[in-house]
Amino acid sequence: MKIGCVKEIKPQEFRVGMTPHAVHEAVAHGHTVLVETDAGLGAGYSDADYTAAGAVIAADAASVWGGAEMVVKVKEPQPQERALLSPGQVLFTYLHLAPDPAQTADLVASGATCIAYETVTDRMGGLPLLAPMSEVAGKLAPQVGAWALQKANGGRGVLMGGVPGVLPAKVLVIGGGVVGTQAARVAAGMGAEVTVLDRSLPRLRHLDEVYGRDFRTGYASAALTAELVAEADLVIGAVLVPGAAAPKLVTRAMLSTMQPGAVLVDVAIDQGGCFETSHPTTHHDPIFEVDGIVHYCVANMPGAVARTATQALGNATLPFLLALANKGWRQACADDPHLMAGLNVHAGQITCAPVAEEQGLPY
Ligand code: NAD
Repeated sequence: MKIGCVKEIKPQEFRVGMTPHAVHEAVAHGHTVLVETDAGLGAGYSDADYTAAGAVIAADAASVWGGAEMVVKVKEPQPQERALLSPGQVLFTYLHLAPDPAQTADLVASGATCIAYETVTDRMGGLPLLAPMSEVAGKLAPQVGAWALQKANGGRGVLMGGVPGVLPAKVLVIGGGVVGTQAARVAAGMGAEVTVLDRSLPRLRHLDEVYGRDFRTGYASAALTAELVAEADLVIGAVLVPGAAAPKLVTRAMLSTMQPGAVLVDVAIDQGGCFETSHPTTHHDPIFEVDGIVHYCVANMPGAVARTATQALGNATLPFLLALANKGWRQACADDPHLMAGLNVHAGQITCAPVAEEQGLPY
């Protein structure tokens, strides 16, 4: 199969859909990989890296879209990219179609077969192509929180790990899923005193069994949440209610109970945020202050570490990418219901029930 990989054109997106390692594996399976020139620069990969892996470098995006049977990307195609899709072409990328009728209409009109990373499932009921980005954002959260706690950034001037004779920072993680677990591990590794709250008892049991020596767990009742928020130097919001906006677990009124210069990192901001006072920010201007509390609410945190994020995403997508290329999308999806769950649009039809329901369109 001819596989294409284009340079991402969404603003502030530095990741790339295929690493040179992924190209190498695809080429070893007998496929041709067309990579747009400079596609990997944001993630630290040069054209020479791709050529060494066996790719053919294309001069521009149009040559890739025009020459590839399957295009592998990171972000949803932008309007000018959607115009280049052709009937029967396979698109494999994040789509997030449910809240995006304009993109949905263009993909339906294109006649292409569009497989979305975010709806591919696994045997445990998880989302294997979303999890790596949650792992990245989770590990990043204490790092940015520690930075925001520094005096020059508006924080209360507390060092995460303390020093001999001085107590460490108190870190509260609300939501103990993929993001929360990684955030708690890193915060504990920095020497902070960490508590993780969740509403799922099986999840709390698992965390306690595996990480009981590294951090404490608690049931996320409103009262315990309020008590621990008031004491915390850093609160990391990491909840997810699938298919719904994040619940507002820290209200504006609670900010007045916090220590001046304490920090809130709202990782759940891409689902509307779990703090009442959150609004999305960018890597260029990541923090703002409300009632003396520093807020960090960057909606695409993995973009800060585009190279790590590209590699993490590439590891997760590779087996699916190879199945699609080796067998063709029809057979690959027929063999694997979890990959089939990723099929969002095919031949002018929406093929993903939640997308159709959200937009009131036929399925
Ligand atoms: P997850 O499903 O693995 O974990 C979410 C956890 O929240 C679950 O354990 C669940 O039991 C818990 N939870 C739900 N409601 C709760 C409540 N009221 N109180 C306490 N806990 C509650 O999800 P995840 O992969 O860890 O993602 C967490 C959030 O981070 C999502 O909103 C996701 O979209 C977001 N995210 C943001 C970025 C970013 O760049 N900002 C990157 C990746 C993920």
